[in-house]
Amino acid sequence: MKVLVFATNNPHKAREVEQMLGGKYHIKTLKDIGCMEDIEETEDTLEGNALLKARYVKEHYGFDCFSEDTGLEVEALAGAPGVHTARYAGASRDPQANNNLLLHNLENKASRRAQFRTIIALVKDGKETLLEGICTGQIATAPHGTGGFGYDPIFIPDGYTETFAELGEGIKNQISHRARAISALLVHLHA
Ligand code: IMP
Repeated sequence: MKVLVFATNNPHKAREVEQMLGGKYHIKTLKDIGCMEDIEETEDTLEGNALLKARYVKEHYGFDCFSEDTGLEVEALAGAPGVHTARYAGASRDPQANNNLLLHNLENKASRRAQFRTIIALVKDGKETLLEGICTGQIATAPHGTGGFGYDPIFIPDGYTETFAELGEGIKNQISHRARAISALLVHLHA
């Protein structure tokens, strides 16, 4: 089976992507290639941070690879938390604190519209390619469900009444921002 290096050490993302690839590729994560450092996301866009991680791996470890960066963009908050999604409530990147802060900041707002946006940066055969996946929906008024990770307990994708955490990975991995970005990656790779 063909191998792709996915520049992440987030086990949730690796698991989702492995399932989305449906056996077409075997995924190696940063740990699998011996990269244990935390690649700091210092850019101010998702595109910039995705590229930064993929370039780092190519430069320091020599592998063609892809990376991804995801942001939650909330309409009533002018697109925040966006590129600051992971550290919205502080440097500890605590998902529960992030969710609570977002719910607090949306109190009394008329719109709860939001979208997850994933950018994949692929560095392959000396070329850099960016691919995007978007999933639109709304922020729930309270957390629901135990599946998934991050903001999944408070994100209700369009077409559903339950959160990603309630819908479970079977549905999430068909319709999510990450699933759409991975589909675009597979088209690009002619897989
Ligand atoms: P990053 O792409 O690893 O920087 O993640 C940004 C933030 O978005 C983190 O707080 C993640 O937990 C969260 N996040 C990324 N992807 C998802 C997802 O699919 N569902 C819910 N939260 C996510």
